[in-house]
Amino acid sequence: MEIIRSQKKTTAEAPSNLSIYRCAPNLEVRLDDIELYAIDRLRVLKGISNGLSRGKRPDEMETMANELWRTNMRHPDATQLINKDVVSHFVLRLVYCRTDELRKWFLSMETTLFRYRFRLETPESQRMLMAEFQLPYKALNYAEYESVKDKLVQVSRSIGQSPNVDTIFFKVPFEEVPELVANRRVFLLKGNAYVAMNQVTSIVVSHFRSNLSKALVLTNRKWTSTLREQEKDRLSPIVEALGSCYLGPDYSQPMEFTDISLKDIDQLANTSFPLCMRHLFNRLREDHHLKHGGRMQLGLFLKGVGLNLENALAFWRAEFSQKVGSERFDKEYAYSVRHNYGKEGKRTDYTPYSCQKIISTTPTVGDYHGCPYRHFSEDYLRAALAKMGVGGRAMDDVMEKVRNRHYQLACTLTFETIHAASCDTGINHPNQYFAQSRKLLEPKS
Ligand code: SF4
Repeated sequence: MEIIRSQKKTTAEAPSNLSIYRCAPNLEVRLDDIELYAIDRLRVLKGISNGLSRGKRPDEMETMANELWRTNMRHPDATQLINKDVVSHFVLRLVYCRTDELRKWFLSMETTLFRYRFRLETPESQRMLMAEFQLPYKALNYAEYESVKDKLVQVSRSIGQSPNVDTIFFKVPFEEVPELVANRRVFLLKGNAYVAMNQVTSIVVSHFRSNLSKALVLTNRKWTSTLREQEKDRLSPIVEALGSCYLGPDYSQPMEFTDISLKDIDQLANTSFPLCMRHLFNRLREDHHLKHGGRMQLGLFLKGVGLNLENALAFWRAEFSQKVGSERFDKEYAYSVRHNYGKEGKRTDYTPYSCQKIISTTPTVGDYHGCPYRHFSEDYLRAALAKMGVGGRAMDDVMEKVRNRHYQLACTLTFETIHAASCDTGINHPNQYFAQSRKLLEPKS
């Protein structure tokens, strides 16, 4: 603990940029901006989630969270920064209030973010925020501080911290800080614990968490009872879309360096396809057939990695005709291949599926699509990973991520193991897996 002196004057009147999000703002914001702000905040929260799941140390997490905030929550108009913060928070509340699991995730990420942002605030701003939470703690005045200074120094030494005369202390009823008392981390006198500013952070953060937790339950009630219907032509479609939005690059167009031909496809599948696509590819080669979900997942992936329509038709025909004959392929299946390339029906140029979309599918018996990390049994997944060259400690790490339902991280660890390279962005899209693999394996192309 640092030890304190309380009366230090700084830029006391500077208002804090950190909101405690007590009320939804009364602002006029364009729907487009609402969506963009929410996506930017989601990038921050997902980055934090990624860092926590990877077991980053607290100091690494703090640096990463601050950097994520700085990069994503910018605004060309500095006066709009606070609005962007508040609007994005309240929009994501709507998105993440809708199930227990979503609420738990959002609560945990927002609380982590708040903790790091609170620590960046000046002592004056921190005290203003404490006042907003209506925490009735007063900083020790000079006389009070002097009367207990020796004890405070003793306690701080006993917990391995060097005394610092700038530390601010607060008198807090001891029953409000049971953990600090139980761990003998505070000096106690007449029913009060003398809590240093850095220890106050955890009290403030726990108030933030508790308020947000209650608010999410209330928001959910309001959303399901009235708001969703009231907003069905305005906010509801945005909220629904944000719940499953993919935040990475667009893979709808093949990338130059990934143009592939039929003669290379087996070798590419072996070296650069993620497990979900290898599995589909191998089943297709073995059974000469895939059901609709598998054809869509693999077909759009292949389109994204650079298989043109002509080659795609030749590829699917060569397999399916072994099972159903060429005539039936041309009659029943060629249409859907052309459809994926926007040459039939509504002529939509369909986009390859992201991990999030694949992970959330529910394959049934006879289907081979989906994400193996989520949909395979443990034994089957271990066997598939072993075939890719994952073993030993790496296998244990991957399986641990799977047990904790961090499927994309499990895929990222697999990628890192078989490519012997790190993938700091994490895997968010099968086509990203492919593109990064090609970059590593064919750096000159
Ligand atoms: S995490 Fe994504 S890329 Fe990896 S196997 Fe699952 S869906 Fe495929």
